[in-house]
Amino acid sequence: MKIGFIGLGNMGGGMAANLAKAGHEVHAFDLSGEALAKAGEAGCHPVSDAADAVRGMEAVVTMLPAGKHVRAVYANDVVINAGPGMLVLDCSTIDVDSARDVAEMAKAKGILPVDAPVSGGIAAANGGTLTFMVGGSEEAFNRAEPILSDMGKAVIHAGDNGAGQAAKICNNMLLGASMIATCETFKMAEKLGLDLQNFYDISSKASGQNWSMTSYCPVPGVGPQSPADNGYEGGFAAALMLKDLRLAMEAAQSAGAQVPMGEKAVALYEQYAEGEEQGGMDFSGIIKMLDKG
Ligand code: NAD
Repeated sequence: MKIGFIGLGNMGGGMAANLAKAGHEVHAFDLSGEALAKAGEAGCHPVSDAADAVRGMEAVVTMLPAGKHVRAVYANDVVINAGPGMLVLDCSTIDVDSARDVAEMAKAKGILPVDAPVSGGIAAANGGTLTFMVGGSEEAFNRAEPILSDMGKAVIHAGDNGAGQAAKICNNMLLGASMIATCETFKMAEKLGLDLQNFYDISSKASGQNWSMTSYCPVPGVGPQSPADNGYEGGFAAALMLKDLRLAMEAAQSAGAQVPMGEKAVALYEQYAEGEEQGGMDFSGIIKMLDKG
């Protein structure tokens, strides 16, 4: 297929490369010359204008930082240059309202939109093992699925436009809160004199079991390999967790949902990611903040 790709950063670079590897003709655009050059080396056709990543394409993927970038690129480049029936896939993590607004903008021009945010970080983007949560009509989902499958290991239809973003931020709010709960629990277990591996063996088979503990344990040397074993480098940056938690708070407010644990998680990640310049560290590194109290 002829696919346009706009936004070749940490995530988009690897995703565009995987589409090229799967045999698609990928017309790639980014504001950064360095990102463009890398995409060229990875088998994409770099283009010097966003419009050239849209005109004549069968589908266009965007992977941009935030809602304001997606709104601008849709308004200025995608919608005006897209042909009728074109599929547009926004894989960025953005607020639900922006996702719904750009979808309406696209539908008004006869374009088929999906929001398809991802779970999995840079390694999964490079390795083609992302999980996509997709919002859009049945028809749009059916057309998007084979393209997304070339960049990921799972593609799940979450509902109508905006539902992909809603699923992503609900999941990440749960992840942020459960990571903090796991961190404070292990710190308390330590202060109570428990051996942490022994406590892990108990709790991972008892009712406290959760993903933050058993797949991503924040304690070095306990559980499977995780960023804790690498000085909290790599993994999922605390600054990105904070971004997702803030999106979750916006969505909760607009939907009228009560999220007291989510609010607490935002406050703690603000303290960790902003107060101490730890934003680039993995989000499980928040356990170190609990050492200080
Ligand atoms: P990034 O900042 O590395 O990349 C964004 C790219 O978009 C940059 O190369 C930038 O130059 C480009 N860009 C910005 N405005 C543009 C425009 N108008 N036209 C063309 N290009 C433009 O960000 P990233 O880490 O790749 O993340 C992208 C999205 O994926 C974000 O929404 C992020 O929340 C989400 N996400 C990231 C991760 C992660 O681990 N990095 C994991 C899951 C989801």
